[in-house]
Amino acid sequence: MTDVTKTDFLIIGAGPAGMAAAIYAGRADLKTLVLEKMMVGGQVANTMDIANYPGFPDSIDGPTLADKMKAQAEKFGAEFVMAEAQSLTKDGSLFRVVTSDGEIEARCVVLSTGSDPRELGVPGERELRGRGVSYCGTCDAPFFRNKKVFVIGGGDTALKEGLHLAKFASSVTIVHRRDELRGEKIYQHQVLAHEKIGIIWDSVLTEIRGDKKVETLALENVKTDAKSEQAADGVFIFVGTKPNTQLLQDILPEYCGEHVKTGEDMMTAVPGLFAVGDVREGSYRQVATAVGEGATAAMAAEHYLSH
Ligand code: NAP
Repeated sequence: MTDVTKTDFLIIGAGPAGMAAAIYAGRADLKTLVLEKMMVGGQVANTMDIANYPGFPDSIDGPTLADKMKAQAEKFGAEFVMAEAQSLTKDGSLFRVVTSDGEIEARCVVLSTGSDPRELGVPGERELRGRGVSYCGTCDAPFFRNKKVFVIGGGDTALKEGLHLAKFASSVTIVHRRDELRGEKIYQHQVLAHEKIGIIWDSVLTEIRGDKKVETLALENVKTDAKSEQAADGVFIFVGTKPNTQLLQDILPEYCGEHVKTGEDMMTAVPGLFAVGDVREGSYRQVATAVGEGATAAMAAEHYLSH
């Protein structure tokens, strides 16, 4: 990139939502840049098996889907730049984004920076991260072959990742704070029927203990207050996500670190600034809904720019 790159449409974050926006913007003849700091695909790139994205009755793996979306966006003229957006401001009608590789001036911006796993905040979690504490079953499952692992949470991520971990681990124990799971019914049925997966209901993790690696977990039953200590080789924490909206600090500070509100056209309170996917308040956080939001933003942006 040159020092100041000018574009019509800047998409920050190359997950499914951002790449769908890029496909639509490219086809609308808008000069389109997609900024990505790490890995095209976002969280999808860490998902081995996507079974509910229409068009793939036999599932598709995340990295392949992400590569196909990128190729499709490039085919219609979008340009991908590997750099990190560091600040976002608006000067008159133009947005200015300072990146790790120069400055970009854009007429419209789409924030599609996704989300990161949320920490539980218990003692031992940070100290033993990477030494038995993990937030990605798809990435780390092979390290736990024939080991005893625990999964914290009862949502889609916990159930899906628990099923993946059960392919490697000797046992997977899901610890859930209620007596009913939150995740999709199809995953619930698979988890409850799996011979290697057990569930500890109504319980929370209060401490992760171990010297150089995870050794035991302290659990507490929220109904009876009974405490127990369980031997464990690993603990996978899936207690929700936090949106990556720190870039809004200068432009919409009330949403910095929070889900951002948009209209039905995905535009935020700042004209020309759109937000799609996991960063958006009310998003269902599915690949299928993310691409719909991205497409909507691009079409609304085309309308905004032509008026
Ligand atoms: P989620 O749906 O918010 O579930 C988080 C889970 O963690 C819930 O079961 C929650 O318990 C539990 N939890 C939260 N805070 C806790 C705490 N302090 N201590 C103990 N447990 C705690 O998050 P997610 O599973 O990461 O999913 C995020 C979004 O992505 C959802 O919209 C989900 O549908 C979507 N997603 C979809 C798929 C798919 O294949 N369709 C896959 C992954 C994610 P409660 O149930 O009691 O609240």
